[in-house]
Amino acid sequence: MKILFASSEVSPFSKTGGLGDVAYALPVALAKRGHDVVVLSPLYGCVDRRRHGLEPVAHDPMDFRLWLAPEKENMRFAFVEAQLFDREGVYGGYEGDYADNAARFAFFSRRLLRAAQALGFSPQILHLNDWQTAPGTLLGRPEGPRTVLTIHNLGYQGHFPLEEARHLFDDGLVPAAWTHWGKLALLRGGICTADLVTTVSPTYAREIRDTELSFGLGEELRALGDRLVGILNGIDVEAWNPATDPHLPAHFSADDRRGKAACKRALQEELGLEPSNAFLVGMVTRIAGQKGLDLLLTALDTLLASDLQLAILGSGDPALEEELRRAVGRWPGRFALRLGFDESLARRIYGGSDAFLMPSLYEPCGLSQLHALRYGSLPIVRATGGLCDTVQDGRTGFFFEAYRPEAMVEAIRRAEETWRNRQGWEEMVDRAMREDFSWDASARAYEEAYARLVPDPADPGKNRRDASR
Ligand code: ADP
Repeated sequence: MKILFASSEVSPFSKTGGLGDVAYALPVALAKRGHDVVVLSPLYGCVDRRRHGLEPVAHDPMDFRLWLAPEKENMRFAFVEAQLFDREGVYGGYEGDYADNAARFAFFSRRLLRAAQALGFSPQILHLNDWQTAPGTLLGRPEGPRTVLTIHNLGYQGHFPLEEARHLFDDGLVPAAWTHWGKLALLRGGICTADLVTTVSPTYAREIRDTELSFGLGEELRALGDRLVGILNGIDVEAWNPATDPHLPAHFSADDRRGKAACKRALQEELGLEPSNAFLVGMVTRIAGQKGLDLLLTALDTLLASDLQLAILGSGDPALEEELRRAVGRWPGRFALRLGFDESLARRIYGGSDAFLMPSLYEPCGLSQLHALRYGSLPIVRATGGLCDTVQDGRTGFFFEAYRPEAMVEAIRRAEETWRNRQGWEEMVDRAMREDFSWDASARAYEEAYARLVPDPADPGKNRRDASR
């Protein structure tokens, strides 16, 4: 099948969070299964053209230029260069989100098929992601490809003042589906226009349909019926492998975990934590309300008053960052905080911590807990969204239900107690590290979803049967 995968970020070229990882790994997994996939993303100022060997593509003059990375894993990564993207940030800078984001991503979304054409590629499936590329659903039927929209996080819906709609609709007429509460609503428009909508875990698919996590879109999502599908994300198990990870000071695997202790000692030293045998809890996170940092801030002093160490790497909300920074001063040697985005340190935290904390208010899928499982750091998570689908309470990690600091502290204490009983802990680590979250199973599920939309020439009857469901 020919698939054009459009994303506002794609690792390793640009990344602010999980979407960047998915936009690399899922297309690669689909290409491995024999599909012809092109990934398209904007060429931001922060994308290092030289390091990635990007080359301009010769094409008819248009209002953008197209660049290509050297073919990787049997597939093409292409980038749209335009003035709107020629600045450092992906979505914004120190002063917050860029004011012209509606214009930026409408511009990108409207040029997806023209960019594909410049590559001589005519996709059967246009796979879009989140509000930034949701307007790409307007390029679909009747003449265009079938469209799939994946919701990675319903908390971000792309709401803008209505006058921004001029970037999307030349005639100035805005279809009702593309508005909500008097605003231009890009994700809502995409949900109502796409042929199929997916989200990144089965539990989250249920939650956004039936609970307050629908963020005001419950009706639209319920109306999709079986055209809303939850497919779990995977991780790139080759790139995330503690047996070979060049960022780790020592290596380990499920079969031989001896290197993990050295990773812990090195992490303590790197972060200025006491070199003691304390229970070391790590966090690598966007610093945002969604991630449960308010719970952590409330419980921090209680937690650190015992023999526990906490290592946090994150960046985001300046007010939350400031509160965390203030707490560091109270707990020297026990609480290490690094603000910023640092993939190398992230890996050393996964590798060196005993447990990994994710007290999320909601979590569509979550990749961090998958990295943590693979690196033998047992996740302590709130039972929500994809965390329910990937962590098993008492077997590979620890759950808490209520979004309350006491519930989180209780789960951390339970984990710590298990850790003190070495054998039970080691059995859990063994199980966690052997879990398979490779992309192959997810890629197969996406393939089935695409097959519902695109006629299979080998069995035309099959798609008629599907269409009539
Ligand atoms: P979200 O997409 O909501 O931010 P996920 O858990 O799905 O959360 O994905 C987060 C990804 O980004 C993980 O790969 C995590 O390791 C990485 N990450 C988050 N914050 C940082 C940071 N400050 N430095 C390095 N990596 C980070």
